[in-house]
Amino acid sequence: MARQTEEQIKCSFCGRDKRETAVMIAGITGHICDRCIQQAARIVDEEMSSRLRETVLGSVNLMKPADIKAHLDEYIIGQDDAKRSMAVAVYNHYKRISQKKSVDEDDIVIEKSNMILVGQTGTGKTLLARTIAKILNVPFCIADATVLTEAGYVGEDVESILSRLLQASEYNVEAAERGIVFIDEVDKISRKSDNPSITRDVSGEGVQQGLLKLLEGSTVGVPPQGGRKHPEQKLVQVDTKNILFICGGAFDGIERIISRRLNTAAIGYRSVSKDEKVEKENLLQYITPSDLREFGLIPELIGRLPLISFLNPLDETTLRRILTEPKNALIKQYVRLFEMEAIKLSFDKSVFDYIVQKALEYKLGARGLRSICEAIMMDAMYELPSADPKPATFKVTIEYAKKKIDQSGLRKLKVA
Ligand code: ADP
Repeated sequence: MARQTEEQIKCSFCGRDKRETAVMIAGITGHICDRCIQQAARIVDEEMSSRLRETVLGSVNLMKPADIKAHLDEYIIGQDDAKRSMAVAVYNHYKRISQKKSVDEDDIVIEKSNMILVGQTGTGKTLLARTIAKILNVPFCIADATVLTEAGYVGEDVESILSRLLQASEYNVEAAERGIVFIDEVDKISRKSDNPSITRDVSGEGVQQGLLKLLEGSTVGVPPQGGRKHPEQKLVQVDTKNILFICGGAFDGIERIISRRLNTAAIGYRSVSKDEKVEKENLLQYITPSDLREFGLIPELIGRLPLISFLNPLDETTLRRILTEPKNALIKQYVRLFEMEAIKLSFDKSVFDYIVQKALEYKLGARGLRSICEAIMMDAMYELPSADPKPATFKVTIEYAKKKIDQSGLRKLKVA
């Protein structure tokens, strides 16, 4: 074939001849110019990210609120109010992000509803958030608000929260952008919190301001490995628009604020004796944004957490159920561990009541159930695997349990 002149070489896509282009690349039967390459690259990028978005959303298990609650029931005992609110919140959240209609088509924009869970420590706030993320199959991470500091102080930048989410999604930014973040101990960054540390933002208000940026939905530069941002580090841009934030806190003493408000609202004055009487009930169920504000959260942050729910303190009956009923209940875990040694483990029923009684006595709540069980089971777990001959069964009687607790370091807790 005769060699083509400059005028004769044309881009097979846009028809420009070589003289009008910066670069012309030859293929087997045609040519492509630099502009068409750039345009094609843009189209490919858009198409790929739209496919990725669909895959990521497709992998989210979108269930109806009642189904979500039923799943939560398998792992978490009681806390119906929190479960229902959470089921609705995540259902609406994922409906919102899977909404196809563009904003221009009509004016209805479903707003994000981040959530705040108020309840004593160990009542299941983290467990709820973690379980819901597992059910939905979305990336999940837990951040502790107390380690966060205002930029310029020793501690972690608020953006480090998103580093954890990125890690949880194996650095898949699209997936992370649809994840759930649980921020624990938000009560500790309240305005009034008298943190003894001099190296951090003492008021906590600066941290609250920092969190606002994440919660309201913006593109944030995230240090991929966490920690502090520094100039040489390459930042990953993460859009927080579709990340669901669930905050949790014990808000110690908020009952007093609620009680005061209730009394003032109902009868216009409050007497100490009345106050004390109401405080014994579960006042958290009456919590409102104004109580959080009085506690020391800034109004802007409360505004970004439109859903408030509460967790009940765990009573004896609930603790007893937690021990044996959830899908991965503690007792079921020990039975499985022993099963793996080919030993059939069983318990006297009264052992469960004893464990609960001890957890209450030591004021350890649900978290304490585990330490008490460990204290009871430790010797057996140490000795039985190498016992010769290995017994086929092992029964924990009430006498055995009491003896092990008496021998353990736990008994010292009673004095404390
Ligand atoms: P919080 O975040 O409120 O401090 P967690 O969610 O960390 O409390 O709860 C601590 C542990 O106690 C959980 O890992 C779980 O084993 C147990 N637990 C607490 N509340 C419940 C509950 N309602 N149902 C089942 N287990 C619970």
